[in-house]
Amino acid sequence: MITLPKNAQRIIDTLKKAGFEAYAVGGSVRDLLVGKETKGWDFTTNATPEEILKLFPDSFYDNQFGTVGVKIRKSKTAEELEDIYEITTYRSEEGYKDHRHPDTIAWGKSLAEDLSRRDFTINAIAFDGKTLTDPYHGQDDLKAKLIRTVGDSSLRFEEDALRLLRAVRFAATFGFAIEEKTALAITAHAKLLTEISAERIRDEFLKIVSAEHAADAILVLKNLGLLHFILPELEVSFATPQKSPKRHHVYDVGTHSVLALKNCPSNDPIVRLATLVHDLGKPKTYRELPDGVITFYNHEVVSTKIARDVAKRLRLSNKQTELLTTLVRWHQFSVDERQTDAALRRFIRRVGKENLEHILALRIGDRLGGGASETSWRLELYKKRLLEVQQQPFTVSDLVVNGYDVMKIYDVAPGPIIGTVLDALFAQVEAGAIPNEREALLKRLQELRPTLN
Ligand code: ATP
Ligand code: MG
Repeated sequence: MITLPKNAQRIIDTLKKAGFEAYAVGGSVRDLLVGKETKGWDFTTNATPEEILKLFPDSFYDNQFGTVGVKIRKSKTAEELEDIYEITTYRSEEGYKDHRHPDTIAWGKSLAEDLSRRDFTINAIAFDGKTLTDPYHGQDDLKAKLIRTVGDSSLRFEEDALRLLRAVRFAATFGFAIEEKTALAITAHAKLLTEISAERIRDEFLKIVSAEHAADAILVLKNLGLLHFILPELEVSFATPQKSPKRHHVYDVGTHSVLALKNCPSNDPIVRLATLVHDLGKPKTYRELPDGVITFYNHEVVSTKIARDVAKRLRLSNKQTELLTTLVRWHQFSVDERQTDAALRRFIRRVGKENLEHILALRIGDRLGGGASETSWRLELYKKRLLEVQQQPFTVSDLVVNGYDVMKIYDVAPGPIIGTVLDALFAQVEAGAIPNEREALLKRLQELRPTLN
């Protein structure tokens, strides 16, 4: 027995009391049936947007989608926390000449009509709090863990090619398989992806790499012929072997990339994408030496260029592009214990303090995805040292003395001499010759004075 949360039931009851039909529908009912927390509640009704707006004082109309949003506070005390409940009038859509947008959107007459235009059987179940309406047997598919289109698969993918990726995304999220006829139709229509906007592909693809079953989903994309239209550089990398004498790698580049993603502990979509693409420069840098050893000299530079192409293709923001390329560029960082503090600082400056956790997540995925253990004493020592060197001042402005101290002690006016003195002082602190403590620094300033005159 399932029940709707109080607020969802209240929305249905309000519409029903006013004489309309109303149901929770789509992802929210699906999530309720599998016991997963839902991201947003969607309702369908025969009331028109104007009629819905009248019934809910705190509602607004988004006429691009024909949806009315109702804001409900999460609790009486937390004013700023609001959930949005989306109510959409029954729809029927006809004509999708461009494989993306219906040419006309019309209000549907019945729940049956509304459910028939939905994408997959598991997304086409309605619930009013008492009765489940499930004309396409979505509950059976939930039990069998199958993604199956509503109606004729070919027609449904021709109508809207984004569904090709949505099928894989739901499989990746729930760990479901794609039903055979649906899968065959995906392969037959894979090329339609070229007609979908880069932004829509990006949104779905980032959801896929962030999903629980992301690694399996990448292989599904490959097997169904979709990967070629999203990340061809990954598709070809399955043909590049890495197994060679004196090297730890056992998997080809593509398999390693997918396994790295599988083992990446980060939830950040860009960090996960970086983990997936970090080695894609390898096919182009592949060299086999006379003794049979395989090398990929400079592959991180080529991978970075590929990462930049991918970012452009998927229309990532500047900030996302910067993060993606930075992680790929420096993913080969050495954790050798003989490195100096200065080398660690250089690494931190390149990657950025705020990205250290991200690049370590990539490294963990990379190690586990290459068959190594999650960590090593070297990596642990390196992490400890990264924290330690961050305690030390990074730039002149981290010194606990400043220009005013210099002016006072030397009795000089503002001028370039101040910067010169502070730089000299910072160099000594960075080299570990003196601690970054006020008394010690003031004393050293006094001592430095004669050499400056
Ligand atoms: P999520 O948990 O990611 O929000 P969802 O199933 O709620 O998953 P939405 O994109 O929010 O997905 O869409 C809500 C519902 O609208 C879907 O469950 C489905 O019934 C229908 N739907 C959404 N996109 C499409 C589409 N491209 N074609 C047909 N039906 C769609
Ligand atoms: Mg949703």
